[in-house]
Parts: sequence; C-alpha cells; structure tokens
Amino acid sequence: MTYPESPRSLSSSAWTIEDSEALYRVKGWGEPYFSVNAAGNLTVSPKGDRGGSLDLFELVQSLQQRNLALPLLIRFPDILEDRLDRLNACFAQAISRYNYTGHYRGVFPVKCNQQRHLLEDLVRFGQPYQFGLEAGSKPELMIALALLDSPGALLICNGYKDRDYIETAMLARQLGKTPIIVLEQVEEVSLVLEAYRNLGVKPILGVRAKLNAKGSGRWGTSAGDRAKFGLTIPEIVTAVDALKAEGLLSSLQLLHFHIGSQISDISVLKDAIQEAGQIYAQLALLGANMQYLDVGGGLGVDYDGSKTSFSASKNYNMQNYANDIVAAVKDACVQHHIAMPTLVSESGRALASHQSVLVFNILGSSEAAPITPQAAQEDEDLIIRNLYETYSTLNGENYQERYHDAEKFKDDAIAAFRLGYLSLTQRARAEQIYWACCQKIQIMIQQQGSVPDDLRSLSSALSSIYYMNLSVFQSAPDCWAIDQLFPILPIHRLHEEPSQRATLADLTCDSDGKLDRFIGQGQTKPILELHPLEPGKPYCLGMFLGGAYQEIMGNLHNLFGDTNAVHIHLTPQGYDIEHVVRGDTLGEVLSYVQYDSEAMVERIRIQAERALQAGHMTLGESQQLLQRYEESFRAYTYLSSH
Ligand SMILES: *Cc1c(COP(=O)(O)O)cnc(C)c1O
Repeated sequence: MTYPESPRSLSSSAWTIEDSEALYRVKGWGEPYFSVNAAGNLTVSPKGDRGGSLDLFELVQSLQQRNLALPLLIRFPDILEDRLDRLNACFAQAISRYNYTGHYRGVFPVKCNQQRHLLEDLVRFGQPYQFGLEAGSKPELMIALALLDSPGALLICNGYKDRDYIETAMLARQLGKTPIIVLEQVEEVSLVLEAYRNLGVKPILGVRAKLNAKGSGRWGTSAGDRAKFGLTIPEIVTAVDALKAEGLLSSLQLLHFHIGSQISDISVLKDAIQEAGQIYAQLALLGANMQYLDVGGGLGVDYDGSKTSFSASKNYNMQNYANDIVAAVKDACVQHHIAMPTLVSESGRALASHQSVLVFNILGSSEAAPITPQAAQEDEDLIIRNLYETYSTLNGENYQERYHDAEKFKDDAIAAFRLGYLSLTQRARAEQIYWACCQKIQIMIQQQGSVPDDLRSLSSALSSIYYMNLSVFQSAPDCWAIDQLFPILPIHRLHEEPSQRATLADLTCDSDGKLDRFIGQGQTKPILELHPLEPGKPYCLGMFLGGAYQEIMGNLHNLFGDTNAVHIHLTPQGYDIEHVVRGDTLGEVLSYVQYDSEAMVERIRIQAERALQAGHMTLGESQQLLQRYEESFRAYTYLSSH
C-alpha cells in the first residue's frame, strides 16, 4: 500500500492559496466558516453564508497589541449562533418534509463547554427555538437552573443523581421551568418516589434505555447491556410498574437514549432510532403519558473534511441526521397509532466545536540540515565503506533495496561500537552517512509522489520538529488521551509553499506532549507541511474545531494553565471584543497546588539574605532575583514571544 504525498511535488511552480486550501483540506472541514484570502491569511466568516469576514492573522496581531499574548483562544459567538440556527432549521425542514405533527426542542449538553459566556450566549440564541440545556451532574444542574430562563425550554437532568439533585430539580418546576428527571439507574426510581412523597410535587420523568443497537468507534460502549447508564428493557418494565403503583405513571413522559459521541456512520443511528421508536410506542401503550423522545448526542463533526465513516469524519450531514430521526419516529408512531412526540436532541460537539479557534506561535524548530558525507577512504572500516558505497550508488530504481542495506549497515555499526570495535568518531561517521542515505531517498520519494509502506516511517524520522508555545495536555487533551484529530494549519503565509515537513512538540517535558498525526483524506498523515521559519518574524498556527470538550478536560501538566481567551463578535464596522478572559497566571496555577506566593517570596528573600551575608551574592543580584521572582507570579504560564 502507498499513501499520497503532498498534492504537489516540490518542483512545482508558483504556489497558490488554492494549493494551501487543498493541502490543509480547508473547504472540507471549514465551510462555511473558514477560508483563505488573497493575502494568504486564514479568514473567519462567523455568520457562515450570511456574509462578513475577518482576517484571522490581522485579528491576532491586533489582539496581541492589546496585550493578549499567545496562545490565545478566540471564540466566535456568531458561529455558535449559526450552528444553532442550522440545527433548528434542519429539524424544521425534516418536520415539514415528512408532515411530522410533533415539534423539535433541542438541548445543549452543558458538559461540552461549561464556560459561562458561551452558555449565556447559547441560551439567548436558543430563545426563539425554546432551546434548552442538559445537565449531567449536580454542578451542571446548578448552572442550567441559573441560566435557563426561556419559557418552555427543557432542562434535561441526566447523570448520577442523589436526593439533593432530584429534589432540587423537582422544586425547580415551581419556578415555571421544565426539568425532566431522566432515570438512568434502577436506584433512582425509589429516590424519585421518595422525593415525591416528601415534597408532594409531581416530577416530569424520563427513562434512559440501554438500546441493543450499539454505537461504533470510540464511544461504542455507551449503548448495549454493559453501558454505564440506562435501564435495560426488563428494568424499564419494572420501573413502569413501580411508578404505576404510586400513581406516577403520568409523570413518565420522555424516553432517552445516547449511543455515544461522534457517530461516524449514519447506519448505526438509523438502527438505534428504529429501536427507540418502538420502545417509545410501547411505553405509550403501557399507559405512560409519553411526550418526548430524546435521541441524545452523537451528531458528528467532520474533522478531516472527508465525508467518510472514518472516525474523524462522518458520512452524513445535519439534514440527513434530522431526516432520519423524524422519518423513523414518525413510522413507529403511525404503526402504533400514537401521537408523534416532541423530538429532543442533545447535540454538543456539533454545536460547540466550530466556535473557537486556538492560535499559538512556533518558538523554534529543529530542522535536519542536508548532509553531504565525505567519500570513504581505503583505510576506513569496512562498515563505513559499505555504507558509503550504498550512499553513492542510490538511484530512483534501487532506493527501496538500498534503504534496507543502509539500515543493516547502520545496525552493524552500532553493534560494532557496543563491542568496542568502532570508535566514537567512526560511529558518528557511520550514522552521518546513514542519514545522508535517508535524505537522498526522501527526495526520491517526493519526486515519485508516493511512499512504499516500508519507507513510511522515513518521512517522520526525517521531518523537522516545530516547537509550539502550547501544552497539548491543557489545550488539546483529546489528542493525547484518545488520538483525536483536529485540523491544524498556519493562519498566514498560505500563498507560500510550505516546504518543511514537521511534527509538533509542546512546552511540557513529557514526550507525549506532541502532535504527530494530522488529518488526511479519511486517514491520517504523520507530518504536517509547514513554512520555514523566518528569523524575527512570528509564525502562527491555528487549531480548529476544538470548541467542545477540550477546554474543561485540559489539565495543568507541568503547570501550564488556561490560555487567554477572547470573544469576538462581528459588527458591520468590523468586530467587538465582547469579553476577555485572562489565562491563568503562575501565581494562580501554583495556588491550585497549595502554594502561597507570599510565603514563597519570603523563602527566597531569606535565602538571598543568607547568600548576601556569606558574600556569595551582591546586593544588586539579590534585588534582581527577588524582582524577577515576584513578577513571575503575575505572569502568563506560557513563553512570551519577545
Ligand atoms: C456527552 C453526551 C452528549 C453530547 O454528545 P455529543 O456527541 O457531543 O453531541 C449528549 N447526551 C449525553 C447523555 C451525553 O453523555
């Protein structure tokens, strides 16, 4: 098997922005929000097709002038609004197309992004649609109760629940809200009955079913008998009996299922909805007052823009998704002559991913300089002469074979060194000729446009390393934890050919803190094409589609804290900076691990005093050290670029 090299070979003539768009697949994952302008900069169209755009690189420069250092998370609430409008429009269209007699009332799962400004915006944008929130824990319930004030919007209460959770949710009904307590564990049935007896308030209840239809991919185990949440069919029937015995069956109004996030293949969803449609109808026939069918999350994001069932993609669009849900639920209801439910979806990833862009700068790179080894001499070691022979006879026909020869001779050299037959200088010479072979082969591969499988590791071995002013653990935790792919590309110089092939290393001293898998066409590639760094000039990359899950899952590995964040709203004149959320300072991250900045300064002061007394330090040095140390507590945890 071979995999494609860059779409164009290195010998190309003038590079164009279209070449960059194709290389980084911008149209595939970015439309309608991201594109490249004539100046070679990435542009953002926060309102999608409705016009207006911003030059991202210029925006970043002007934010830097306002003291907002990189790395910088830029949120575009307009994109969030556009995503929400699209989702609602897709369901509206499906409902009209299939003459569906129920409505759609979606909710946003708070766990996707709990950031206050974002949720406040979301609730406001959702008002015309009675769009609600989904809480998966007690703190999330508290957020949802405080923020959600759109009349008629649903507040879906999921997750593990104790008495406090249940009673709080029940009492919130008296505020005119619509909390729906979803029974996810068998024990919750008795907790709810108890709370009902205590409070005398009738709850609205839902039940989460463990479907037989399983998700696929990473989150496939979210469904099925072994799923963490949900009731099996026998458990649902038992719960119905228990509610009936207490006169609460009319409270059971919602059926919920969630077959996992990022559903890549629509056929998985079709099965699940068919099954859920039947369970819904049967519950109605058993006498429950069924009103809502909640299809959970799972609506995917096309991270690589390939429109395939690859895990980083999806083989359907939002409209297909809505159509399939509406059509299948309608079929089940018609079959059993029951009223069509209000449809609820809990799309998080699909709503929140596009709205933020993480911009970071490259601090430096380690590039492999071209090697031209000296010819081997008669009196040099045989291994070195063999290696040089391999190098000097390499050509377009034999490079695959010669590559394996070179590998063998290099291994021989290292073995000989280990046994004391080669000197350090000789080993250096052997390794140098080996790398020269690899470089020559790499050029041949590029000229031929495809890589034989056994040479695939070569391009990563020969690639440069670009050092990012970023922590993968803080800003892209899913890349580290679950091999998630996000589109990453330079946000400027896109009219220039990116002639370097690189992997990315982060600031942490953890070897996992790197990015070496990048989006391709329904597959991944081990390197990213980047531009050579220019001395004294910034080089900025953007990571896209990371607006869901990344922020809250990020951790403080090596004590790199939250990045700076801004909210940019498009205006007819340009843009407004709506909110600035400063990233963590050193003092803040240190306090998370129980350090007190004043006590730390005091310790340094005492040590400096001692060094002064002993004559190891001058007064000036001591002053400077203390000043630096104290100032650091107020500084950003990332490297400053000047
Ligand atoms: C995580 C989760 C969601 C959100 O899923 P997405 O795939 O991000 O849309 C929805 N519902 C439940 C119950 C979840 O656990």
